[in-house]
Order: sequence, then structure tokens, then C-alpha cells
Amino acid sequence: MSAVLDVKGLAKAFGGVRAVQDVSFALGEGELLAIIGPNGAGKSTCFNMVGGQLRPDSGTIALAGRSLVGLKPRQIWRLGVGRTFQITATFASMTVRENVQMVLLSHRHRLAGLWTPARNLFRAEAEAALAQVGMGDQADRPCGVLAYGDIKRVELAVALAHGPRLLLMDEPTAGMAPKERVTLMALTKDIVRSSGISVLFTEHDMDVVFAHADRIVVLDRGRLIASGKPAEVRENPEVQRIYLGGAGTEAARRAGG
Ligand code: ADP
Ligand code: MG
Repeated sequence: MSAVLDVKGLAKAFGGVRAVQDVSFALGEGELLAIIGPNGAGKSTCFNMVGGQLRPDSGTIALAGRSLVGLKPRQIWRLGVGRTFQITATFASMTVRENVQMVLLSHRHRLAGLWTPARNLFRAEAEAALAQVGMGDQADRPCGVLAYGDIKRVELAVALAHGPRLLLMDEPTAGMAPKERVTLMALTKDIVRSSGISVLFTEHDMDVVFAHADRIVVLDRGRLIASGKPAEVRENPEVQRIYLGGAGTEAARRAGG
């Protein structure tokens, strides 16, 4: 069986900076894989190569056996790679439901015509996506009035709405309080478990990473220095030395113990 995502020998340099060097990892169906590493380790560069925002200098990226290298972000999205996007000011005045409907319209190539008011298109599907993240009862509220944690749930609903098989989440919990982070990741994990989609994510909070990831890949200065199950990664001396040092080690030990 081919992996949902199979990345081999990925490399990207920006001028003299070797942001990602010879990074390989694979992601199975229904798996939650975390990429961690200090600032500048190359995490976002990896995400952007998988999502098509950046073209790798070398290496291969395959989604269920199909190469993604050279495809545009939109094509990759259509093949079933979702990613969380921040809901910006433009969409704040729209209701929660409308935000999700917009994505469905876009994915299915439909424009709101004269005869079908946009507000009725994909309404049921949008509501199903919102129910999945526990936002069903807030569908009629403008996004602009929501609490920050609820906006993050809507962003997740937007990312899930078109039924991706792989979800990319580059620091989905940025700016959230620790308790909200745990709630959002637990919710994500529930959805992964029930729908079988695969998730590649990054997250600063080691408690969240070690408690939720099925496997972890550790990058440092562009290189993969460790990968495996949380317990294995936590015990890796190089990870402890390079990345987890100090408070991180304590956090990781507590989360996994
Ligand atoms: P992370 O997400 O792990 O913090 P990044 O992937 O953003 O790391 O960055 C990896 C390295 O590549 C860093 O040294 C960063 O400064 C550099 N880098 C990232 N994007 C660019 C870019 N567009 N132009 C130049 N350098 C970049
Ligand atoms: Mg980053």
C-alpha cells in the first residue's frame, strides 16, 4: 500500500541558506504526524513545498503515489490536500456558514449565478463541516464577533469542508491559550480518527505535540535529526540536547509520562 504522503530527499535553499536538506518522511492513512524543531529549522519550508507554495530544489513528494512537484497550490488543493488558512478581515463580515460555503463553491468551480442565490449553495455541507468542529449552533454569526478559539474552529471547518485526504496545519494553534490549544488538537485528532484523513502539523507547545502526535519528525537547521513515536523521540539524546533542552524536556516528560 502506498503512503498517503511520501516525501523523499527534499531540499530547498534560499541563497546561501540551506533551509531544508535531504528530508524524508511518510504519512499513512489516518495518521497525525508532527514536524517539530527550533525556529528556522525548516518546518514551514517543508509545508510550503508539500502545499506547492515553494518548489523543491530536489527530492520527491507523492500523494498516494502521484507526484506533486511542480503543481500549483490550487491543483494540489484539488487533489485533496487541505490546509488551514487564517480567516482575514475580508471574511470577518461574512457569517460562519458563508465562510465555509465560499470554499465549497470555489472547490466545485461554481460561481453564484443569477438563479441560485449563493446563500443556498452547499448549505447542508457547510453545516455538516461546522457540526464536525462543534460550531453548528454559531453558523449565522459573523466571523468577526467570534472568540479567537472559535475562529480557529471555523478555520478547521473551512479546511475540512472539501473532504481532503491530507491536512497541512502549520502552527494551527498560534496565539491560542494553552487550554484552547489542547482542545483544538483533541478535536483534530477526533476528526482524524473518525474520518481517516491524515494530518501533518507543527506546534510550539511540546505538551500538545507529545500528547497528540502518532509520530514525530524533528528538524534542526534543515536536517532531519530524529523521527519515530513520541516515546522514542523524547528519549533521543540528540533531540534532548538540540531541541528539548531545559523546560522542553520537562514538558515532554510530563506529557508522555
Ligand atoms: P521554521 O518554520 O522551522 O521556523 P522556516 O522553514 O520558516 O523555519 O525557515 C528555515 C530557514 O529558511 C530559516 O533560516 C529562514 O530564515 C529561511 N527562509 C525561509 N523562507 C525564506 C525565504 N522566503 N527567503 C529566504 N530565506 C528563507
Ligand atoms: Mg514556521
